[in-house]
Amino acid sequence: MTERTFSIIKPDATRRNLTGKVNAVIEDAGLRIVAQRRIRMSDTQAKKFYEVHAARPFYGELVEFMTSAPVVVQVLEGDNAVARYREVMGATNPADAAAGTIRKLYAESVGENSVHGSDSAENAALEIAQFFTEADIVG
Ligand code: GDP
Repeated sequence: MTERTFSIIKPDATRRNLTGKVNAVIEDAGLRIVAQRRIRMSDTQAKKFYEVHAARPFYGELVEFMTSAPVVVQVLEGDNAVARYREVMGATNPADAAAGTIRKLYAESVGENSVHGSDSAENAALEIAQFFTEADIVG
């Protein structure tokens, strides 16, 4: 089933000039980048995006990190894109990530872990709508 997921290339990766390398892993996995924009995330945007983690001890650190340098927000499309991208990203903590995954290849720590990917189709739709309109997405 063709579906869409939402991706962010995080500040640790843009800072090290890894956008192209991350995109190569995404494309090699059979996912299509159908929308993409480099932005500086505002404090308000980051707080809203990670609202579900507001009670976690690392929330402040996470918001600070996400606003510390540019990010690349993306819409990915493909067969089972949500699950497929989670697989390609690897585990949250790079120490636990499988070989060949983006986080194993590039992440620096559990917090600065190079990429975000939606955890469900429902959240993907909400996250895409926070950063893109339908007109931005060209499949
Ligand atoms: P994900 O779905 O694999 O991104 O993981 P989670 O939904 O559990 O966490 C969201 C994001 O919060 C992660 O990708 C990390 O950037 C950050 N995060 C998670 N756990 C920690 C932690 O223990 N410390 C810090 N600083 N950040 C964390």
